[in-house]
Amino acid sequence: MNQVRTCVGCRQTGNRANLVRIVKTQSNLSLDLTKTKPGRGCWIHPRNSCLTTAIDGKSISRALRVKVNEQVLLDLKEQAEKMLEI
Ligand SMILES: [Zn+2]
Repeated sequence: MNQVRTCVGCRQTGNRANLVRIVKTQSNLSLDLTKTKPGRGCWIHPRNSCLTTAIDGKSISRALRVKVNEQVLLDLKEQAEKMLEI
């Protein structure tokens, strides 16, 4: 089984175990620390630099193939900072 994922922040690949999943829910994005939620997801390193790059660079929208508005991205960032303590 392929355990390698690409980070939407730095674009580097990493082992699935070292990245967290961002999953698209109905109207939002949420961090999926269990990595098992249904829906389209993308992967990111749990660190501030990757998060910032991903959010500024619109790569989350690209990875999820949806248009994600700025507020949703800001919410995601806040969520990540709380959950990951970064
Ligand atoms: Zn990264």
